[in-house]
Amino acid sequence: MNNNMNKDYKAQKERRKTREVMVGNIGIGGDNPVRAQTMTNTDTLDIAATVKQIIECAEAGAELVRVTAQTKRHARAIGEIKKALDKQGYDIPVIADIHFLPEAAFEALKYADKVRLNPGNLFDSPNTEKELSEEEYEKELKRVEESLTPFIQELKKFKKPIRIGANHGSLSGRILSKYGDTPEGMVESAMEYLRIFKKNDFNDIVVAMKASNPLVMIEANRLLVREMDKENMDYPVHLGVTESGSGEDGRAKSIIGIGTLLLEGIGDTVRVSLTESPAKEIPVCYSILQATRRRVTKTEFISCPSCGRTLFNIEKVADKIKKELGHLKGVTIAVMGCIVNGIGEMGDADFGYVGGKPGMINLYYKKELIKRDVPEDEAIKELIKLIKDKGMWEEKLKIKNYE
Ligand code: SF4
Repeated sequence: MNNNMNKDYKAQKERRKTREVMVGNIGIGGDNPVRAQTMTNTDTLDIAATVKQIIECAEAGAELVRVTAQTKRHARAIGEIKKALDKQGYDIPVIADIHFLPEAAFEALKYADKVRLNPGNLFDSPNTEKELSEEEYEKELKRVEESLTPFIQELKKFKKPIRIGANHGSLSGRILSKYGDTPEGMVESAMEYLRIFKKNDFNDIVVAMKASNPLVMIEANRLLVREMDKENMDYPVHLGVTESGSGEDGRAKSIIGIGTLLLEGIGDTVRVSLTESPAKEIPVCYSILQATRRRVTKTEFISCPSCGRTLFNIEKVADKIKKELGHLKGVTIAVMGCIVNGIGEMGDADFGYVGGKPGMINLYYKKELIKRDVPEDEAIKELIKLIKDKGMWEEKLKIKNYE
């Protein structure tokens, strides 16, 4: 339980340098914090339900939200959704998620703040199962370029950014015929699109490689970054593990996939996909960002697991402290069951709440004992007072005011 958190933070791998891509009023990449986003699961044509869900997500701290636009009608509905959000004072960017229908993509860019394209099934040939000769492959790719170019002109006209999001489960037949169902195939699928966009001098692009297997997702993203670097592409990267399920298992997959890459310096925006209501994905996004030190938005807690020496109900107390003091961005608080190991283990926490003797708590500031034998029922109040005395207290803000 040695805590070298601050040291680790300083030794942390630098975040990969990317360009800033503006999505509505929110910047992704560049010097912007790693953004938290989610996706609605309502019918986009049900404007009221979709708006309600987007507001729930925004209140939970989502900075961008994606909605599905499977037809032109759905794409147009995004215009209505944005108007309704605006009326209620929400300016969260809305992204259109497009598969299969190019006309939905053309329509969406009139209304949405960004359009997500799946290179596996848009402007390409998802059903081509047969093996292609080199010549046939190139011919197909040329056809993709011809279909994509007018869309790029429209993007420029409407000044909208895009995300190129390749999914392991929906690669085009053309890509599958050459690379198979592999991270290489995912990366090449996106790279082919990126080259076409770059050639047309369009660079407001975010890229994503998603898979339900975190290992595939991690490998694909590492490879993507290597390939983009080779071709001088500094596009921001969107991280996510798809179809990860729900509950602990779903969270574990996202934490492994997204967390590993963030630690390596890869990632400019994250989405945790859970088979739960979208607003529930947001606290997980922020916890991963906090744990990887890519974005500190709340109090950092250190607490011991408790053992036979524990002098108070640490689970209950730690929960209570978290509820009352969880909003102190950049402050580290240690809650330790006893002084035997507690003081050493709390390392470089700013404040320590440590069991001194039964019913009595000792309060520390930077390892220095400030108050001894505070009765347990007054200890949280005293801790807050100590934090205020040291000028590190702030009043609770709504979670969405994370900046
Ligand atoms: S009660 Fe003391 S010894 Fe036991 S886990 Fe907590 S800090 Fe360590």
